[in-house]
Amino acid sequence: MTYLKISVNPDGKQKKAIWMDCGIHAREWIAPAVCQWFVKEILRTFKTDEKLNKMLQNLDFYVMPVFNIDGYVFSWINKTTRLWRKSRSAPPDDCDCYGVDLNRNFNFLWATVGVSFNCCASTYPGSAAVSEKESQALTEFLSKRTDEILAYFTLHSYSQKILLPYGHPNVSAPNYSELMKVGLAAAEAMKSVHGMEYEVGNSATILYPFSGNSQDWARLIGIPFSFTFELRDKGKFAFELPEDQIQPVCEEVYVGVHHIIKYIHDKTFHNGADSGAVLCSFMMWTFITVTTLL
Ligand SMILES: [Zn+2]
Repeated sequence: MTYLKISVNPDGKQKKAIWMDCGIHAREWIAPAVCQWFVKEILRTFKTDEKLNKMLQNLDFYVMPVFNIDGYVFSWINKTTRLWRKSRSAPPDDCDCYGVDLNRNFNFLWATVGVSFNCCASTYPGSAAVSEKESQALTEFLSKRTDEILAYFTLHSYSQKILLPYGHPNVSAPNYSELMKVGLAAAEAMKSVHGMEYEVGNSATILYPFSGNSQDWARLIGIPFSFTFELRDKGKFAFELPEDQIQPVCEEVYVGVHHIIKYIHDKTFHNGADSGAVLCSFMMWTFITVTTLL
């Protein structure tokens, strides 16, 4: 599993950070495209976008473009496999079907709602919470950095929504109203790009109740801002979004995410702590295998 770290002015100063991952679900191809665009846009504009440059003095960006690697590769094989959702982990002893729904495998009210224990189902949550190498890797990485990471973004498709924690209907985030306010402002900013409307609300209310997802878990461990973006469209093309929509989606999502990060940055660094010499570099860290994260 590979992630990129974008870090400006790494002079030893303790900075905060933003995490974004894409492609937890294999068939949602638009998500990895947006993650890559996000990196490209930051690198292209950080010298000319004064606000972004200031934010990079205080924030690092971690971006994982493809979370579910074997599932993603499988979805590219042919038309039969195109709509594969889960990972490709080996079947449990009592079943013949491959794969776990990695967005049901995290350790927050695991397997309590919105899952199927039939291992052939697309929402099979695994044999236990965090049973999968992918969820273990993210759990370990983020758990060590809860003081550092201010926001967790995870990108999915489709339905054009900005989801807030929690997916479980009986739990609500203590900062729900702030998340809602920021989410609505982001949706408004996104609409200004290509006119597309994104609905904002908690997952259980505007999508469906489900448990064990990464967004809920990230909020649970103390990352204050946790968002799932469900990208275009609303069902016309569904997971098979036409190529001519890829770039427009990237453009509108970049604006929405930028808006949220700006809010978080200004809230956190409001005492002029963002001054500093502009000495920029780009560092790319690569973890070749999951085991290096474990
Ligand atoms: Zn998804």
